[in-house]
Amino acid sequence: MHEVGIIESALTVIRREAHAHGASRVDRVVMRIGAISGVEPEALRFAFEAVTPGGIAEGAVLEIELVPARVHCRACAADFTVESGFIFACPHCQALSGDVRSGRELELARLEFSTPASNAHA
Ligand SMILES: [Zn+2]
Repeated sequence: MHEVGIIESALTVIRREAHAHGASRVDRVVMRIGAISGVEPEALRFAFEAVTPGGIAEGAVLEIELVPARVHCRACAADFTVESGFIFACPHCQALSGDVRSGRELELARLEFSTPASNAHA
């Protein structure tokens, strides 16, 4: 499953960031996923639950921000939203366009950590 590989590479970054912040654990991981990135949010969640136990992100909340896919039509300069696919027909002039302006995102948007200092008063 390709989502496991995505989570594993995200964890590489998460471990590095956690270390850089002196964090003892990760509370929240926010990932930004484009509508046509080819990643299933549910599969990503499943992979996260499967891969994180025993590591720094164990028990962290995975939040997924879905980015709608926007395509630009060069023929009539319209922008339109698509749900899926690879080649898109402009709803205004029917020209085909592959000029995707958003929707292919697959990135770590934000991390929230607990550091030993922030837990000291607890
Ligand atoms: Zn058009």
